[in-house]
Amino acid sequence: IRSRLPHVGTTIFSTMSALAQQHGAVNLGQGFPDFDCDPALVEAVHQAMKAGHNQYPLMTGVPALRQGIAAKMEALYGRRYDADREITVTAGATQALLSTLLAIVHPGDEVIVLEPCYDAYGPEIELAGGTVVCVKLLPDTYRPDLPAIAAAITPRTRALVINTPHNPSGRIWPAEDLQALSDLLAPTSVLVISDEVYEHMVFDGRQHESAARFPGLAARSFVISSFGKTYHVTGWKVGYVAAPAALMAEFRKVHQFNVFTVNTPVQHGLAAYLQDPRPYRDLPAFYQRKRDLFREGLAGSRLRLLPCEGTYFQCVDYSALGEPSGLAPDEFCRWLTREIGVAAIPLSAFYAEPGDDRLIRFCFAKQDETLRSALEKLCRL
Ligand code: PMP
Ligand code: GLN
Repeated sequence: IRSRLPHVGTTIFSTMSALAQQHGAVNLGQGFPDFDCDPALVEAVHQAMKAGHNQYPLMTGVPALRQGIAAKMEALYGRRYDADREITVTAGATQALLSTLLAIVHPGDEVIVLEPCYDAYGPEIELAGGTVVCVKLLPDTYRPDLPAIAAAITPRTRALVINTPHNPSGRIWPAEDLQALSDLLAPTSVLVISDEVYEHMVFDGRQHESAARFPGLAARSFVISSFGKTYHVTGWKVGYVAAPAALMAEFRKVHQFNVFTVNTPVQHGLAAYLQDPRPYRDLPAFYQRKRDLFREGLAGSRLRLLPCEGTYFQCVDYSALGEPSGLAPDEFCRWLTREIGVAAIPLSAFYAEPGDDRLIRFCFAKQDETLRSALEKLCRL
């Protein structure tokens, strides 16, 4: 077989979840909750099914859901997207990302990603015929290195992928970074793909800075989010993309032949549930409590905690562990799963060429008892 992705294997998330299962380890690797969603959301979907919403919806998504997304984005980020022309419902953020790249990247175009970055970006850019250009985020803060981004832009640069709150670091970008990026891109035609799937998970009173909030950025951005993260339903795979009408028209040309439409009853259920802002307004407090429980527990271990400002990920440095610290992060995660009984994700999986950092990521979207059971094991390290 002449592979389109010769250097790609199975994702680290599938690999570590399988290993966790094999060893009966507590799975703090792959990012997904081990608790259920609000029964009212399940009921809303059930009602939609019973009401006969079971055939193809509009290609662009159920109107009530697009209107709800537009209203939420306007309330939170101050930009009014036209629900008919500027918002499309997708099969999760993954399909939104891939369809966006397929819609805008021409063979040989360059797309800049900021490392460490979510593992889907690189292969998706390649599938679209693009060349991946990696620029590192600033060490320690994981904020954008604006001079390095400026230096990476060439006449072939088609787009830049950004992600805040950031997977895997759990850091968020302040407004000044988005404004500076907007200024930097102003004289260029570079498009922005803004992955904001963790938009509702920000802690300690911080605010999520959406690309939608900055007019110069919004005019060139595809803003992507996912209900899977916000409503604890990662398996439903429903998300959306918002972009100015001319960009959205191109997105839809691809979307209609990629998935065409997304699960009808789930869209109706989400449309009803989205009318109540409390579930996403309450999310920061909900996850902040879990973050604090997990961090306080780890304070008694030899793992060094990195700051966590958002997302449901906590990164730690294991270089103080003695012998196991000789293991590279992927080996260390296998060892941790096998010998200690806790699965994590190596940060090295988020780099094209990993350095020698000793960093791993835990997901704390877990029941308190799951976190406590993991903490008990980790404190033996
Ligand atoms: N982007 C980031 C940064 C993510 O962490 C995830 C979660 N897997 C996705 C995109 C994909 O989201 P979805 O499950 O909605 O496809
Ligand atoms: N986004 C989730 C993570 O970073 C999982 C996604 C996946 O399994 N592909 O863990």
